[in-house]
Amino acid sequence: MNKMTPGNLVLNFTEEHECYRAYVRNFATREIAPNSRKWDEENKIPWDAVRKMGEAGLLGVIAPKDMGGQARDNVSLGITIEELARADISCAIICWLQASIGTLMPGWGADTVRAVNAGEKMVALAMSEQDSGSDVGNTSTVAIRDGDDYIISGTKIHVSLVPGAQVMAVTAKTETEDSKMSISMFRVDADLPGVTVSSMEQMGARAHQLGRVIFDNVRVPSSALMGADGGGRQALNVRFNVSRCLSPLAAIGAAQTALEETIEFTKNRIVYGRPIATNQAVSFPLVEHWTRIEAARLMAYRALTLTTLGQTSMQEAAMAKWFGISSAKEAITDCLQLHGADGYLVEYPQEQRLRDVTALSFTGGTINIMKVLLVRELFGRDFSGLDPSA
Ligand SMILES: Cc1cc2nc3c(=O)[nH]c(=O)nc-3n(C[C@H](O)[C@H](O)[C@H](O)COP(=O)(O)OP(=O)(O)OC[C@H]3O[C@@H](n4cnc5c(N)ncnc54)[C@H](O)[C@@H]3O)c2cc1C
Repeated sequence: MNKMTPGNLVLNFTEEHECYRAYVRNFATREIAPNSRKWDEENKIPWDAVRKMGEAGLLGVIAPKDMGGQARDNVSLGITIEELARADISCAIICWLQASIGTLMPGWGADTVRAVNAGEKMVALAMSEQDSGSDVGNTSTVAIRDGDDYIISGTKIHVSLVPGAQVMAVTAKTETEDSKMSISMFRVDADLPGVTVSSMEQMGARAHQLGRVIFDNVRVPSSALMGADGGGRQALNVRFNVSRCLSPLAAIGAAQTALEETIEFTKNRIVYGRPIATNQAVSFPLVEHWTRIEAARLMAYRALTLTTLGQTSMQEAAMAKWFGISSAKEAITDCLQLHGADGYLVEYPQEQRLRDVTALSFTGGTINIMKVLLVRELFGRDFSGLDPSA
């Protein structure tokens, strides 16, 4: 197959994609949107919604059929995330984490994958630490070999879906045969002796939960290794290429709803005897945001299409992520402002949307780190400021 270059890749949603989009939109409008504010206030995982997303096939959208999945392509996963986020960003995050961690990372075991796809269980990725956020390689959690077992010690923070997730993929340093330390990934049940989870209060995406996990000499069998010993970074990168196209689509979905609501509002809000939309200082920013959101959507789906074709999309995903999330945040900020003081009130949806979209600038690498990756690609590693060995 000829390699498709960004220049010759034309996006073309199939009829099946469009039917599927209508199906997810219908589900999200009916089951998700009416509860978004309530779930934000309750500040805990909406298990009812998780089960309904499982029953609707949204959590296993890219999983194989024999794992209870729908075996659709990555573009369909992007459509799922965009449509869910039009209704609620937390549910979109829950869905992309289950689909990308549960399906794209090896070693969960068939029972867990089936339970995740059905919305009966959740998995989480415990990677970040106090001194290892952007700098993933600086992990201080260790897994020491002890006969046929490993003993894991360390503390993870800012972990999505904690408390809540029953099983975690945990990054830890292991000693390889040539006595070097490298990063491996372990499957750890949240209820094992020595595991303690607690909540970290966050400003937005509150229904998706963020937490701390302490591993105090947690013993796991060597069969808990996910992928190869020392293969943790590789497993992460496979997932990141896809998940970095999904977070901008969550931002884009939310911004699209905000723009549609704001166009309607400005056509009806009368100030000085006429609709405020008749002022170009009001309508121009909205059409500019609409244009940027459309461009961001194309970038995200282009990057996802490359992953569907089995082609790496690191550069395209990094561009889609920083541009999509930044553009969405700016759009939602202006939408809030154009609603006047009502936009600022908790009883209207713009303030929650702004808090929720802010969460997306951190997950799976910050906006700045996406630019660092692009500098590495475009200028060369020596100009990225990264450790050359990383
Ligand atoms: C909502 C949310 C969900 C998350 N979910 C998970 C999860 O499920 N699992 C998990 O393990 N972690 C998760 N995280 C943590 C996330 O991955 C980290 O927050 C992120 O990688 C950044 O790390 P840090 O917060 O330690 O910031 P730091 O790495 O300390 O960086 C601080 C600031 O400096 C900037 N910066 C750092 N280095 C550079 C550089 N070289 N050039 C320019 N700017 C730089 C960063 O962009 C950032 O703005 C989540 C975080 C949030 C907010």
